[in-house]
Amino acid sequence: MARRDPVSFLGVEYRALVEAELDWKLRVLEGPSSPRCRVDGSDVIMLCSNNYLSLSNHPRLKQAAIDAVKTHGAGSGSVRPIAGNMDLHLELEERLAVFKGAEASLVYQTGFAANAGLIPQLTDSGDLIVSDELNHGSIIDGVRLSKADRAVYRHSDAAHLEEVLDAAERHTPPYRRILVITDGVFSMDGDIAPLDKVATTARDHGAMVYVDDAHGEGVLGDGGRGIVSHFGLTREEVQVEMGTFSKAFGVVGGHVSGSRDLVDFALNRSRTWLLSGSHPPSVAASCIAAIDVLETEPEHVRNLWSNTEYFRKAVQGMGFDTGSSVTPIVPIMIGDSGDAKKFSRRLFELGVFALPIVFPMVARDRARIRTIMNAALSQSDLDEALAAIERVGKEIDLV
Ligand code: PMP
Repeated sequence: MARRDPVSFLGVEYRALVEAELDWKLRVLEGPSSPRCRVDGSDVIMLCSNNYLSLSNHPRLKQAAIDAVKTHGAGSGSVRPIAGNMDLHLELEERLAVFKGAEASLVYQTGFAANAGLIPQLTDSGDLIVSDELNHGSIIDGVRLSKADRAVYRHSDAAHLEEVLDAAERHTPPYRRILVITDGVFSMDGDIAPLDKVATTARDHGAMVYVDDAHGEGVLGDGGRGIVSHFGLTREEVQVEMGTFSKAFGVVGGHVSGSRDLVDFALNRSRTWLLSGSHPPSVAASCIAAIDVLETEPEHVRNLWSNTEYFRKAVQGMGFDTGSSVTPIVPIMIGDSGDAKKFSRRLFELGVFALPIVFPMVARDRARIRTIMNAALSQSDLDEALAAIERVGKEIDLV
């Protein structure tokens, strides 16, 4: 028998990715994530960060981290159920629940850990998960970890969701539980899920609703309270609200907010939460400071939206298609993957950092430059970025 080579596949598969131009070429941010920043030795305008409100570099968040290191140290020392449950973690959860208008919140290490840890616990064999076809990869992985049956409904199509749920009613034996799960804001297109219709349809079929609001928090709703606030829905209608501190909150971490029963259940069952070390105290303290900022400095959310409206209108005015975007995620549709990559490279040469999104992340003919607006971009930042976008669009014959 030929001797098996246990590791040669690593190089072979990596080179195949390089050849197909599907490997990641990582850029290096040399300093803070700010509207004007240094990337790979160049000064550029940042148009692709999820740091929507620029809180990652806010003095109150930075000071909170420094103070927490002094009072609590650099790390937590353990997982939360053993010896790593600090007063700062609990304070963050209490503050977040109040901010969200929920009975309770549970903070996970990341949003990915929240989805991967909770979804497989909410459902088991004999249950059904019904998922929007464009849901985020962390939801997909969470669903894969569950033993439940799966069904997918067409993107944001509540009528199709209804059909899927009607068909589920006829399943024998009857499903024990049904979980309907959707992103709040979809990260490739910047459109908003019809959560009101999803919630009504789910309620009519006795299904639980789970929304991943990673891109809605700090963006949508009253003072950035997120998609449940945006639609004026109640916790009885949307039972599980999941989110992240890694985007508009400017730090890192995930959470689940809802009823006390949900949090008690999630805490005792989510393996990602139980078996993985808790946040360093500086992370929890900065997240608390982010909530402070959202509650007392409403100008950040306001600026984010005024920049978004200005930018999207200007890009559309140049003749570009921005797809179904209604949020600070503004895709500039290019079509061909090669053109999208060329567009991004030229923009970078002109001092604008915006990444191309190409197959397999989106369909082959739907390549785009995904720009993401930021509250701290000044008028001159926006105008300079827009001039570069128009120039490259003309160079590549797109407008
Ligand atoms: N859900 C969505 C919709 C996301 O965009 C992301 C981040 N890319 C996550 C979950 C994961 O969040 P985190 O970065 O906190 O792991």
